[in-house]
Amino acid sequence: MNAVINVPELFGSDVFNEATMRQRLSPEVYGAWRTCIDTGAELQLSTANAIAEAMKDWAIEKGATHYTHWFQPMTGITAEKHDSFITPTGDGRVIMEFSGKELVRGEPDASSFPSGGLRATFEARGYTAWDTRSCAFVKDGSLYIPTCFFSYNGDALDKKTPLLRSIEEVSREAIRILRLFGDKETQRVITCVGAEQEYFLLPKDLYAQREDLRITGRTLFGAQPSKGQELDDHYFGTIRTRVSSFMKDLDEQLWRLGILSKTKHNEGAPCQHELAPIYTDANNACDSNQLIMEIMKKCAAKHNLVCLLHEKPFAGVNGSGKHNNWSLATDTGRNLFSPGKTPRQNAQFLVFLAAFIQGVDEYQDFLRCTVAYAGNDHRLGAHEAPPAIISIFLGDELSAVVQSIIDGTNYHEPGKSLLRIGVDGIPSIPQDTTDRNRTSPLAFTGNKFEFRMAGSSQSIAGPNIALNTIMAEQLCRFADELEKAEDFDATLQTLVCKALTEHQRVIFGGNGYSEEWKQEAARRGLSNLASTAEALPAYVSDKNIDLVVRHGIFNETEFRARHAIHLESYRKIVNIEARTMVDMAIHQILPAASAYTKALCDAAAAKREMGAPCRSELDLIAKLSQQQDALYQRTEQLKQELTAIPADPTEAAAYCRKVVIASMDAIRASADRLEELTAKAYWPFPTYSDLLFY
Ligand code: ADP
Ligand code: MG
Repeated sequence: MNAVINVPELFGSDVFNEATMRQRLSPEVYGAWRTCIDTGAELQLSTANAIAEAMKDWAIEKGATHYTHWFQPMTGITAEKHDSFITPTGDGRVIMEFSGKELVRGEPDASSFPSGGLRATFEARGYTAWDTRSCAFVKDGSLYIPTCFFSYNGDALDKKTPLLRSIEEVSREAIRILRLFGDKETQRVITCVGAEQEYFLLPKDLYAQREDLRITGRTLFGAQPSKGQELDDHYFGTIRTRVSSFMKDLDEQLWRLGILSKTKHNEGAPCQHELAPIYTDANNACDSNQLIMEIMKKCAAKHNLVCLLHEKPFAGVNGSGKHNNWSLATDTGRNLFSPGKTPRQNAQFLVFLAAFIQGVDEYQDFLRCTVAYAGNDHRLGAHEAPPAIISIFLGDELSAVVQSIIDGTNYHEPGKSLLRIGVDGIPSIPQDTTDRNRTSPLAFTGNKFEFRMAGSSQSIAGPNIALNTIMAEQLCRFADELEKAEDFDATLQTLVCKALTEHQRVIFGGNGYSEEWKQEAARRGLSNLASTAEALPAYVSDKNIDLVVRHGIFNETEFRARHAIHLESYRKIVNIEARTMVDMAIHQILPAASAYTKALCDAAAAKREMGAPCRSELDLIAKLSQQQDALYQRTEQLKQELTAIPADPTEAAAYCRKVVIASMDAIRASADRLEELTAKAYWPFPTYSDLLFY
C-alpha cells in the first residue's frame, strides 16, 4: 500500500522561502529584505545578521549541522564546501552560530576550478556572494545558500552571474518597448524558463561491469541489438515498477526542495525517461535543474539504478536533450509572446517576435556555441535530434501572418491589401498546435520558444544567457528607433516588416532532419557548425564579443575564459574516451575474441581428426582473426595519435575531431564486428540487449 503523502505540506518544506521568512523574521527585517529584492539595493549588515540567525535556527530544526555556499563554477555542475555552525565557548563546549557576514559572503578559495586564465596563481582565491533572489534550502544535513562565484577583481567565475546580468538586461530593454506601447505598470520583465530533462536509467550491476559507462558516461562499444526502438513501444509506455518507485521518490525529494516537478513519462529509447517541471524565472529554473540532475543520480543509486545524463549513452537509439522552454513575461503576469486580442496588443507581440527572429538569425553562431561540447556532438545532427543548423519553426498560422507582412499582401480577409500592424487584427494563434514540428531546433509553441539543442547534461545557463542577450540587443535597437519616431505606427510597420524580410531565411517549417534541408540551409547562407571543434572558433568572433561586452553580460576577459574552458574540456573528454577505448580493446575485447578463437581452433582440430566437417569453425576463425588484427592495428595507431595532439587549444580540438575521433570510429567498427562473431559466454561485458532490455 502507498503511504499517503500530503503534497502541499511537503512542498517547499526544506526551503527557507518567502512564507517561512515572513513567519520567522520580524516585520522590519522582512521588509528590509523585500526592499532589497525589489530594488536590488545592498543588504544592511544588521538585516543580514537577523536573517542568518533565523535561517540557522530553522536549518537546525531541519537537522542541519553545517552551511555551505553553493555555486555554479564553469564546469557546468555545482560546487559546495561545508562549514559547521560550531563555535567554541572557551570552556570545552560549543554553541551553534551563523553570522550575517557568513551568510552574505564566502571565501571558498576553490582555486582548482577551471578559470580559463581569469585567476593568476598569486591571487587564486575565489569569492562567493549570496544570490538573494534564490532561496536557501536544507539538504543532506547542510544549509545551502545559493551564491555567485567571482575572482578577487570581480570577474565572474561562474554561470550564475552572467545569467543574472542577462536577465536584468533583457528586462531593461523590454520595458523600454512596453513603455512605448503605453504600459506604465510593469517594473520588471521576467525571463521564464521550463527545462524538460531527459535521462536513462540502467541497473547498477550491469552498469558496473562496463568501464566505458563508468568512466565516460556512455558506451564506446556495442553492436546493435536485434531490437532497438523501432517499434516505439517504450515512448509514453507503462512505467515499470522499479522505475516508477524511483520516480515517486524523486518527486518527493524535489517537492521538498520547492521544485515544481510536474510531468514524468517514458521517452523514445528503451530505458529513457523524462521529467518536466513547471516553468519559473530563469535563475530559479537554472538552480532547480542543477538540483534535479544531482538528485536524479543520488536517488537512482538508492534504487539500485544508475541515472545516465550523457547526451548519447547508446549509438543507434535516441540521445537525451534538455528542451529549454523560454519566454518573457511582465511582473504583472502578461506573457510577451502571447498574440493578443486587440490590434495594439498584436502589434506589441509582433515587435517581440520580429526582435527574436532577427536576433536568432544574426547571432545563430553564438546560440549554436552555447550547446557545443563533446557529448552533444553525438546528438546534434544525428537522426532523432535537432540539426546543428539553427532555424525557427513558427507553425502554419504564424508563418502565414509573417509571410503576409513580408509580402504586403492579402491576409485571410478579402478586401484588405495588407496587414497594417497596430491597426488590423491578426487571427488568434492556437496555444496548443498539435502538429508541432519535432525536428526544429527552435520552435514557437503558442506563447514560448522551445530551444531543443541543449544537451541533457549541461547547465541551462549558457543557452538562456544567449537568448536573453540577443533579445536585449534587438529590443534595444527597436526601442532606439521607436523612441525617436515622429509617426509611431508608420515606423513600427517599417521596422517589423524590415526585420522579418531581412531575416526570413531563419524561418523553416520543413523536416530539419532531412538532407535537403542541409542543402537548402546552405543556399540560404545559414551556418552549419557540425561539431564543437568547428563551432568554438565562432564563439569569440568580434561580433559576439561586441554583443556581450556592450550589454555588460561578460567583459572580454570573462568571455574568452569561457571559450578557453570549452576548448580545453573538449580535448580532455575526447582524450579520456580514446584512452578508455584503448584500454577496453586491449584488456577485454581482444583477449575475449582470442579465447573464443582458440576454442574454435580446438573444436576444428578435434572435428578434423574425426573426419567431421568444420567449415563454420574455419570460417569464423578467419573472420575473427582478421578483425582482431584490424582492431589491434587501429588501437596501436590511436595510441600513437594521442601522443601527437597539438599544443595550441584550437588546433588540438580540430585534431581531436579529425584524427582521434576517426580512429575511435574505426576501432568501434572492428570491435562491434567482433562482438557479433563471438559467443556470448566469452564476451567480457553486458551487451546492448542486456543493458537496454534488462
Ligand atoms: P511539451 O509538450 O513539450 O512537453 P509542455 O506544454 O508540457 O510541452 O511544456 C513543457 C515545458 O514548458 C514545461 O516545463 C512548462 O512549464 C514550460 N512552459 C510552459 N509555458 C511556458 C512559458 N510561457 N515560458 C516558459 N516555459 C513554459
Ligand atoms: Mg518539449
